[in-house]
Amino acid sequence: MEPFTYNASAVRIVFGHGTRTALADEIARLGCSRPLLLSTPQQAAEAERLGAALGQHFAGLFAGAVMHTPVEVSEAAVAHAKAVDADCLVAVGGGSTIGLGKAVALRTDLPQIVVPTTYAGSEATSILGQTADGAKTTLRSPKVLPEVILYDVDLTLTLPPGLTAVSGMNAIAHAVEALYAADRNPVTSMMAEQAVRSLARALPVLTAEPLDTPARAEALYGAWLSGTCLNAVGMGLHHKLCHTLGGTFDLPHAETHTIILPHAVRYNAPAAPDAMARIAQALGAADAAGGLFDLAQRLGAPTALAALGLEESDLDRAAALAVAAPYPNPRPLSEPAIRALLGNAFRGIRPS
Ligand code: NAD
Repeated sequence: MEPFTYNASAVRIVFGHGTRTALADEIARLGCSRPLLLSTPQQAAEAERLGAALGQHFAGLFAGAVMHTPVEVSEAAVAHAKAVDADCLVAVGGGSTIGLGKAVALRTDLPQIVVPTTYAGSEATSILGQTADGAKTTLRSPKVLPEVILYDVDLTLTLPPGLTAVSGMNAIAHAVEALYAADRNPVTSMMAEQAVRSLARALPVLTAEPLDTPARAEALYGAWLSGTCLNAVGMGLHHKLCHTLGGTFDLPHAETHTIILPHAVRYNAPAAPDAMARIAQALGAADAAGGLFDLAQRLGAPTALAALGLEESDLDRAAALAVAAPYPNPRPLSEPAIRALLGNAFRGIRPS
């Protein structure tokens, strides 16, 4: 076996059905008693229910989380945390709410318990993306890594089918890029392969039957594995392209990941044959890129950037931005080849 380095993070994971009833114990375990709950306006009722179940150990709810973690929202949440004298944070929701919790933790050092309800995987990372004056920047800090992740499968049953599909593909993207990361190791590769297998098995079941609890559990387990890989190793071309498209052209996060992934994988395939074989096997497909495209199509997810409102005239700029800063990727970056990749993704052409 080749020597390797693995930076494992010390996060406590509680996984199961109905685990939200353990929230009070988890708060006490941190030595805390006044949690501020965080949610989007859409999930305020769910967060309110969780808070009410905590009884007097409930400092308040800030239900103002929105996409892209704008700093003015984070600052309002910090002010709210101080006003109610909160001693910890409980974020209930997807990547947007978890991002808000991380932004508040960065500014206050309050410990975090995260209750994820999508498959984005932010709960497992020390990465925070924030927006100020319309520009999104990303930082990495141990301060933003949550202390506890409480996965309650039951809270994912309400995730709408469309979001289930694209959020699941977003998770698969973390695992796929982990399999060919320059700093990968046998542990992350094992987790990544299992993540692709679990999600590829569960997502088609959920498209047909969103309330299938074993499939929900398998998808959430895959999402955790994927998020863990996202934190542990460096991401490549796929994540760079999605970051560029999301940040510069304001495209929706999970949908963009879903559309770009098969094309980024096709681009990298000649330079990462072992990863491709593992991805294809985990998908149960003949070929990794084609298998990912077919999976997205089977889930009824979008497969063309044109459907997200991007203009074809934006593609030259997107390709130039994607190669502007050097970053590790199995296949060297060529602007004309990336422009061709984006053209295929724009039109939704199946990679062959
Ligand atoms: P989201 O958090 O924006 O959620 C989308 C909508 O779905 C929201 O209205 C939310 O309230 C609702 N929702 C979430 N779970 C639900 C459920 N179970 N039932 C009903 N409604 C539900 O979407 P997302 O894709 O999870 O997060 C995207 C954001 O996360 C992006 O800003 C992205 O940059 C960030 N992200 C960050 C990291 C990281 O490591 N920092 C990783 C992945 C994603």
